[in-house]
Amino acid sequence: MRTVTRLLMRPARVSAVAQISKNFRLIDFQGDALRECTWTPGDKLQIKLDGSLSTRTFTPMQWDTATGATRILAYCHGAGPGCDWARRAQPGDERQLFGPRASLRLDGLPASTVLFGDETSIGLAATLQRTGEAASVRHFIFEVNDRKEAAVVLESFGMKTAVSIERQPDNGHLEAVIRAIQPLVGPSTAFVLSGKASSIQYVNRALKALSVAPRRLRAKVYWAPGKAGLD
Ligand SMILES: Cc1cc2nc3c(=O)[nH]c(=O)nc-3n(C[C@H](O)[C@H](O)[C@H](O)COP(=O)(O)OP(=O)(O)OC[C@H]3O[C@@H](n4cnc5c(N)ncnc54)[C@H](O)[C@@H]3O)c2cc1C
Repeated sequence: MRTVTRLLMRPARVSAVAQISKNFRLIDFQGDALRECTWTPGDKLQIKLDGSLSTRTFTPMQWDTATGATRILAYCHGAGPGCDWARRAQPGDERQLFGPRASLRLDGLPASTVLFGDETSIGLAATLQRTGEAASVRHFIFEVNDRKEAAVVLESFGMKTAVSIERQPDNGHLEAVIRAIQPLVGPSTAFVLSGKASSIQYVNRALKALSVAPRRLRAKVYWAPGKAGLD
């Protein structure tokens, strides 16, 4: 395990942690090995868990190769080793990182783009907000467990116009998601879907019914109930 870790992983240290709200933590890493990277917005970064080769996946929001620094926004959803790590992470902690590697490409998107996601996608959304031409119009729609908490986090990244829709146990809220998306569908609008598998599937189907061509859709599942450590 030590050889594999040395060959594949980049050692890094947690350099700062900011608790943005009860369940969201902004975690910064720094390390010389983070200088020798090529990062593209939307890439993924896998963080090795203690005592095994298992990893959990996050989305770097930025990457500074000059200083060897990167940042993730972790949502502490409940129970899971990734979640436990994020809740306890402190400056000075050492971690082995695998990546950055390609995941959801945010380059080449048209001026008008809609991102649908959930708590796990807010870091991705904040990155998308900073990319593209000055005239780009980005719309953000999130399904969330707690709208008030999401509002605090979204505001901290300047996404005041983002729409958050609270989850309902029967998934009835997804109809509200589609109602929010529908007026945004234009002839060249692109859609980025990430987060929970079944919600992506639902929105994907609705967009197809609205005649959105598959080439205007980019999707990546970030988690699914009952599945651990998707990447
Ligand atoms: C490419 C990619 C990028 C990602 N980027 C981010 C990111 O930037 N920030 C971030 O917070 N997460 C991100 N995720 C999601 C994160 O990797 C998962 O939430 C992961 O499951 C967390 O690991 P865990 O050990 O806490 O839970 P696991 O052990 O993996 O899962 C245990 C159980 O927890 C439940 N679960 C997992 N995630 C959630 C959730 N979000 N809400 C409710 N229940 C859940 C599932 O039922 C699962 O079976 C990303 C995932 C992928 C694939």
